[in-house]
Amino acid sequence: MTLTMMGPPGAGKGTQAKLLGEKFGIPVISTGEILREAMRARTVLGEQARGFMEAGDLVPDDVMIGIVAERLRRPDCQPGFILDGFPRTVPQADALAATLAAMGTRLDLAISLDAPEQEIIRRLSGRRVCRACGQGFHLLYDPPPHPGRCGRCGGELHQREDDVEGTVRARLHAYQEKTLPLLAYYEARGLLRVVDGVGPIEEVLQRLLAVVSEGSPRA
Ligand code: AMP
Repeated sequence: MTLTMMGPPGAGKGTQAKLLGEKFGIPVISTGEILREAMRARTVLGEQARGFMEAGDLVPDDVMIGIVAERLRRPDCQPGFILDGFPRTVPQADALAATLAAMGTRLDLAISLDAPEQEIIRRLSGRRVCRACGQGFHLLYDPPPHPGRCGRCGGELHQREDDVEGTVRARLHAYQEKTLPLLAYYEARGLLRVVDGVGPIEEVLQRLLAVVSEGSPRA
């Protein structure tokens, strides 16, 4: 199974991609997570990406395309993969198709997880992430068992720098301007499925599983 999860920031892509990845035993490739990890480690990539991410802008296509092409060629992606947050632009989608074609495969489905702007802002403002393991929590919807501490590894929870209000607005703007056109791109190829991302995590997961089990047009 080869899937991409799209949708505005805060729609729940990361949470649901992780659950689907566990369910199907395939890797989840989160470009946002790869970039945050590179920033934590202060690598060249991290330093390149930092300014764009902190401003709520997209990191340039050539950087992102290189990272994903390299990651997809690793052997653990052979049985399938779930992309979380890639592609985000039409050039990225074209590059993904070319990379997959060179590997003798293609995308099965492009799922757009949808949520209204009010809900997105509520979700992002309450989101907290573990500095040590990256696990996400929400102050209201999925509170950590001990305030400020990760329920998985005990690490310190913090608010992502790009989850502050001004940056959230910039991210929504980038989504509307650069990523929304991808919906028409995948619709034209018969790959788009839009799933309502509002509701409890488990309920949204069931909606996604129903869409995935209907399968792809090539199946
Ligand atoms: P996310 O964790 O998916 O919300 O991504 C966080 C930030 O990482 C985004 O606001 C962008 O700055 C950057 N980013 C992640 N994926 C991409 C991508 N495919 N193209 C460009 N920038 C990206």
